[in-house]
Amino acid sequence: MYSGIIELLEPRLEDVLKTFNVQYNEFSGYYSCTCPIHNSDNPNSMVVYKEGYIGSWKCYTNHCEEEYGGNLLGLVRGLLNSSAERRYYFRDTIDWILKWLGNPKIDISQVPHLVLPKKFDENPHIALRSTIRSSHNTPSVVFLEKGFSLEVLRTFDVTDCWNSKKELYGRTVCPVYDNEGVWLIGAWGRLIEQKEYLPKWRPNTGFKGTTFYGFWEAKKSIEETGTVILVEGMCDVLRLHEAGFKNAVGLFGVNLTDGQLALLNKTGVSSVTILLDGDEAGQQGAERIIKKCSNYFNVKNIVLPKEKDPADFSIKEITNFLI
Ligand SMILES: [Zn+2]
Repeated sequence: MYSGIIELLEPRLEDVLKTFNVQYNEFSGYYSCTCPIHNSDNPNSMVVYKEGYIGSWKCYTNHCEEEYGGNLLGLVRGLLNSSAERRYYFRDTIDWILKWLGNPKIDISQVPHLVLPKKFDENPHIALRSTIRSSHNTPSVVFLEKGFSLEVLRTFDVTDCWNSKKELYGRTVCPVYDNEGVWLIGAWGRLIEQKEYLPKWRPNTGFKGTTFYGFWEAKKSIEETGTVILVEGMCDVLRLHEAGFKNAVGLFGVNLTDGQLALLNKTGVSSVTILLDGDEAGQQGAERIIKKCSNYFNVKNIVLPKEKDPADFSIKEITNFLI
């Protein structure tokens, strides 16, 4: 599964334990020791299974394997984090292991979720962003009335569509650009007047789940800080950017796709903060994202009061949640 890294580590399990000065007792199928990851004082809190029991170590007192992942990569990552001053994330751990193994020829591009799928950027190139900005960059009056700032609406080119020939007629349009911020690849429109029979938000093209809303704008901040804030929708992104959290991006819902996960890894993310809506769908989504991300990043979930989403709060309140 990890293109041979685990297979190369497995026969060297004892060396791994010795490298980290773990005092262990050997049994026929496993090693037993005090868990060095959470500094346990129980001499049998950790069990590391020998070759043939792929992906198995367990900390019986603190369940450290749940934080780092139950395979050997997770074990090494946990040991690295317990012994070093700095934090080791998924990618650093892979680099450390490869070096420790003497740089074997391993194709790291096969490691799942570390590399973008080949067909990653098949999104339509509808128009250049520069063309969009010069042609109709009138900020949305509707969103201004909702309390969004002129500045953020201009940054994200949010506009109202009153052209009845357009697909997003009668909606406030949030354009979606490619990850470089060069091409328009689609848009989401929010109904200006709520009609029961129409969805509040709808997209207008079939762009793929290989980007986030606002990624093109947040990319620089994500790269600089190594952190990202995941929110559900367009308004949440606008609100967070207004509050100065320029590393916030929108999921277009409550799920994190494999393509989005790969994009985070590629951008060098080490910490993920999840800030989804306070309702059940939001929190169930957050649970799934935690599961999906925790092998790769340091994950923090911020739970909002029920029935609230980030866009409902003032800049000050959002700052209080996040800092
Ligand atoms: Zn432990």
